[in-house]
Amino acid sequence: MALPRSQARGWVKAAKMAQRRRRAEDAGGPQGPAPGSQRAALYVHWPYCEKRCSYCNFNKYIPRGVDEAALRRCLVTEAQTLLRLSGVRRVESVFFGGGTPSLASPHTVAAVLEAVAQATHLPADSEVTLEANPTSASGSRLAAFGAAGVNRLSIGLQSLDDTELQLLGRTHSARDALQTLAEAQRLFPGRVSVDLMLGLPAQQVGPWLRQLQELLRCCDDHVSLYQLSLERGTTLFTQVQQGALPAPDPELAAEMYQEGRAVLREAGFRQYEVSNFARNGALSTHNWTYWQCGQYLGVGPGAHGRFIPQEAGGHTREARIQTLEPDSWMKEVMLFGHGTRRRIPLSELELLEEVLAMGLRTDVGITHQHWQQFEPQLTLWDLFGASEEVKELQEQGLLLLDHRGLRCSWEGLAVLDSLLLSLLSRLQEAWQQRTPSSVPRG
Ligand code: SF4
Repeated sequence: MALPRSQARGWVKAAKMAQRRRRAEDAGGPQGPAPGSQRAALYVHWPYCEKRCSYCNFNKYIPRGVDEAALRRCLVTEAQTLLRLSGVRRVESVFFGGGTPSLASPHTVAAVLEAVAQATHLPADSEVTLEANPTSASGSRLAAFGAAGVNRLSIGLQSLDDTELQLLGRTHSARDALQTLAEAQRLFPGRVSVDLMLGLPAQQVGPWLRQLQELLRCCDDHVSLYQLSLERGTTLFTQVQQGALPAPDPELAAEMYQEGRAVLREAGFRQYEVSNFARNGALSTHNWTYWQCGQYLGVGPGAHGRFIPQEAGGHTREARIQTLEPDSWMKEVMLFGHGTRRRIPLSELELLEEVLAMGLRTDVGITHQHWQQFEPQLTLWDLFGASEEVKELQEQGLLLLDHRGLRCSWEGLAVLDSLLLSLLSRLQEAWQQRTPSSVPRG
């Protein structure tokens, strides 16, 4: 496909920036493993979409005359500021999410990556993921993102049924999605993920499983299954409220999930997290950081982060939330260097609750060693070893507590929310009875 000249110029510039970045990495910079408090993943939020999907309540806007050059400068400035505040020396993964980041220009992606590589160590093999929607991700655009430094794609395919795609308000057809998937795999072999939704109004188990089978014939090594959640304020919610559409049936959705994960297992995929499946080791390292409660910085309107602000002498991890609305966020970034709207210090107990709730989402669960990094005094055995409820869950085959640590069985992963109720209340009870420790947390 011939590119408009201005677009082509932008992409050539993006590729040159990415090349400079790679050369700088090869030339050196701080190498080797950095301590946990100096490592982080980086999330970059692109807030715009072509149109609103009927089910979506994310922080996204329909662009009206976006000044991308100004937005780019703000993303770069905020990334630099947060990297400085956090004292992070090594960024292990970057994720461009949204919104629809495949609507951004590859030059913007390259500029953010270059800024990160200049401010800290961004290893040449770091995972750099971009979320892509089929209609804004032609082969040439995907190639330009690759030249800009992206090396993994997450495609919002959602369904392979055109009626369902229309119901969801998506801008693409099943044919567009399959075409994008094929292009993506050609350009990023082994590094393409697809999202498939389940539990839509009127959706039946059999046809949904046939979609999954069709997807398995052409997908790469990573699949995410998401259950539709009806969110207040969305078009779909109103349609269901007004009786224009049947309410999604949670029992059918549970059946789809169970059958779907069995099909994926049969096809050689490891369910490494509640919603995520990978084969050939194609796990998302960026998301793994979230589940392991590693530090992450969130850049862009409405982005969330969790890190210790070391520059200000901080010892406590904070949850940081950036200003939601893009124009306000840009004004704040121009004035203060960042658009952080809220900083919430996490107590030791809150951090441990996150370690528990996030870690149990994965098939590995929480190893003793991992838990000890956050809580050296109260072990997993101390917490759960004598709990009658935990024993019961073990007898039911849902939970395991052994020499490796605490984790859900395959059956347990499917009902994690109900397990967490007992486990979190046991943690809270034990925390109140503990002897306070003075060990600082990371
Ligand atoms: S493309 Fe994604 S973020 Fe944008 S409206 Fe649709 S679901 Fe929401």
